[in-house]
Amino acid sequence: MKDIRYEIKTRTEKPVLPESLGFGQIFTDHIFEMDYTAEKGWHNHAIKPLANFNMHPATMFIHYGQAAFEGLKAFRQINDDIVIFRADKHFQRLNNSSKRLCMPDVDIPSTIDALKELVNIDRDWIPTKHGESLYIRPFIFGTDPVLGVKPSQGYKLVTMLSPVGAYYPEGFKPVKILVQDDYVRAVRKGLGECKTPGNYAASLLGAEIAKNEGYTQVLWLDAVTLKNIEEVGTMNIYIQFNDEVVTPQLTGGILPGITRMSVLQILKDWNYNVTERVVSVEELFDRHAKGEVLDVFGTGTAAVISSVGEMKFKDRKIFINDGTTGELARKLFAHLTGIHYGKIADEHNWLTRVPVEVTA
Ligand SMILES: *Cc1c(COP(=O)(O)O)cnc(C)c1O
Repeated sequence: MKDIRYEIKTRTEKPVLPESLGFGQIFTDHIFEMDYTAEKGWHNHAIKPLANFNMHPATMFIHYGQAAFEGLKAFRQINDDIVIFRADKHFQRLNNSSKRLCMPDVDIPSTIDALKELVNIDRDWIPTKHGESLYIRPFIFGTDPVLGVKPSQGYKLVTMLSPVGAYYPEGFKPVKILVQDDYVRAVRKGLGECKTPGNYAASLLGAEIAKNEGYTQVLWLDAVTLKNIEEVGTMNIYIQFNDEVVTPQLTGGILPGITRMSVLQILKDWNYNVTERVVSVEELFDRHAKGEVLDVFGTGTAAVISSVGEMKFKDRKIFINDGTTGELARKLFAHLTGIHYGKIADEHNWLTRVPVEVTA
């Protein structure tokens, strides 16, 4: 792109990736960065070597949390093509988060073009094994060096890249969930719909308590009634009853997941009776007792599909499929990862191809 400044690090050898990548542990050579001021709009577009920020201690977002981020993935397909999954939806959601937080939006087509450039420049970092991918983390934050609760005048948007491993290196294992009603993650009309740092800070204590009790994740209830199911950890949730597949409707307290949206489409394509509606933890536990719960699973970019094997709420405990992975979760995982790696046709045009082209 002609308005991007390129400062490309020269490498004599290809990067060597560790055998076990983990999640968010290692980063590629370059980032994309741009700055915003009211006078100039977005400017200073640059792709440059990853380096520490130099920031004033009063930088606004550190104190008042005016920031938002995204998480999406690029995959190396079986024919070596590089593709990004649903980039447009992720940047649209970033703009939605920014709007709620009084931050400027970005132009989606040119921001995706810049992302393609960045991914192409660091394409040797994209791992090759099935289940591995390049995690993409765009984020925006208020930069004014001023103490005072008001919207910042200046902003920075940065995109960084992290090669990540398969979420289930030892197979598709179900997780154990603790239903948490002592703490809530977010509240409707608050920031529940936004991918903003404060929501994750709010979730830490509940998640630590669950971990100490031997559970992998927390199931969050709505903050108003403490009865209705919202999400699980940093994933949306689906429940397959005997007559319908249900995901909680977007009430404002729930993060509208792109994987959730994709699963809705796939289930409709497969002619499942799928509904977005209010579903309470009581309905889930009561219908489980009647044998009407066939499967429970989470959806999110990091794990794609995460099967739920066990759930605990107060003194009640249920096992889904006797603690094993359900049929529908397995089918959806195979289908979505099939699309990612180019083994299944991308019927809905969810993939953006990253062409190999000379930049600068
Ligand atoms: C990111 C996220 C999700 C999942 O969204 P995807 O777009 O599918 O990755 C769900 N819940 C929370 C709280 C999240 O942060």
